[in-house]
Amino acid sequence: MTRLLSLLLISALAQGLIGCAQNPVSGQQDFVMMSETQEISMGRSANAEVLKQYSVYQNPALQSYVNGIGQALAQRSHRSNLNYHFTVVDSPEINAFALPGGYVYITRGIMAYLNSEAELAAVLGHEIGHVTARHGVRQQSAAQAANIGISIASIFVPELNTQAGHDLSNLLGGALLSGYGREHELESDRLGAQYLARTEYDPQAMIRVVGVLKNQETFDAEIAKQEGREPRRYHGTFATHPDNDTRLQQVVGEAKNLTVANPVEKREEYLRQTEGLIFGDNVAEGVVRDRRFLHKDLGIALTFPSGWSIKNLPDKVVALSAQNDAMLQLGLDAKPSGTAVEYARRLLGQNVSIEALKIDGLQAALGSSGNRLLGVIYHGGKAFLLQGGAKTPQLLATRREAMETAVRSFRILSADERAAIRPLTLRLVQAVAGDSYAKFAARSPLGRNAEQYLRLLNAQYPQGEPVPGQTIKLVE
Ligand SMILES: [Zn+2]
Repeated sequence: MTRLLSLLLISALAQGLIGCAQNPVSGQQDFVMMSETQEISMGRSANAEVLKQYSVYQNPALQSYVNGIGQALAQRSHRSNLNYHFTVVDSPEINAFALPGGYVYITRGIMAYLNSEAELAAVLGHEIGHVTARHGVRQQSAAQAANIGISIASIFVPELNTQAGHDLSNLLGGALLSGYGREHELESDRLGAQYLARTEYDPQAMIRVVGVLKNQETFDAEIAKQEGREPRRYHGTFATHPDNDTRLQQVVGEAKNLTVANPVEKREEYLRQTEGLIFGDNVAEGVVRDRRFLHKDLGIALTFPSGWSIKNLPDKVVALSAQNDAMLQLGLDAKPSGTAVEYARRLLGQNVSIEALKIDGLQAALGSSGNRLLGVIYHGGKAFLLQGGAKTPQLLATRREAMETAVRSFRILSADERAAIRPLTLRLVQAVAGDSYAKFAARSPLGRNAEQYLRLLNAQYPQGEPVPGQTIKLVE
């Protein structure tokens, strides 16, 4: 991709297309290296690359709902002549992004946390704003000078702490993660708010959406502390809550003179669209249920130690002790050589005592050295590796029993168990008197932070409680 874009760039340079173009939003002359035709063709090829990284979410009704709203906004935008494409991608990440030329993507992950059609329109309007203001192209022009690849307008600034983000970053040459910066983000908020007003939504929804991202950021800081990692940042530069952000209030406020008397919110309509929406990992990546990790295609299950937090990453599953002093990760070697004991010895060292054993009838090995513990289990021609570590050998001794129990819990799923693995989905309920998020959390599969997840899903983070009669989203 990077190479392809470099070639595109070289041909653009060769054809002498560098020059000033009129900015469709401001009407001013912009230093832009690219014609609209080139912009569209670049968007088209980058779209093909994005769709290698992200699958399209398999729900035609939802796709058509999102597309309908996106097209209505785009028609009222500064570049209604472009052919827009709106795609819901099958990712649990909280993100939306746009490519030059009119390609806009929204994750099912962020859709779960929105609470009205107006908020969905705000996300799409913001991304349309990146397209109409040609932020990607403007950034691309700067990037071209430095000979780096395309950039995608993303809600994330600037670090995208996910595997897909890293892959895309590698793919697209790194500019993706450089973000657009405060000024371009504000410009997109301003444009998005205008498009909202012209489409009869309340522009204030833009501020609520920034609030959704800000709450995610606050919550992630809490989780990051539990997991001992760096927190994520969303929509980056908002140090304060959007309600107190004067410049955001100002740019969105400008759209208010365009507002119709009774702007539409369509809360219930939107919530109905989210009924059954997949939440968290889809089955293809393996699912985490309480302390258990289950993988349908590999046909295996493992139970991690009680109280540990579990993170399902594309190439491994990592569990961390509550005290953040020990971890255990499950990985896979598709082409192991030698016996399980020989395999373990190669990783742990020749002079370490390694036990040969059967786990669920499978050839396995278990051993430790210093502050490391290793379980190797052979199944279906693959080696499943359970690599444990503690801060010190003493801590390993303390956590060893829990870790060994986890290794020995590895088992093969029956056909029925495999068939029964379903992703988590959103379900709507009508709150009644006496309902609380603590009560719903107690019955939730979301684990130790369930209560706050439910509040975030229902825009009642960090303190709110369901009001009787309110339609709320639960996860099942
Ligand atoms: Zn943006």
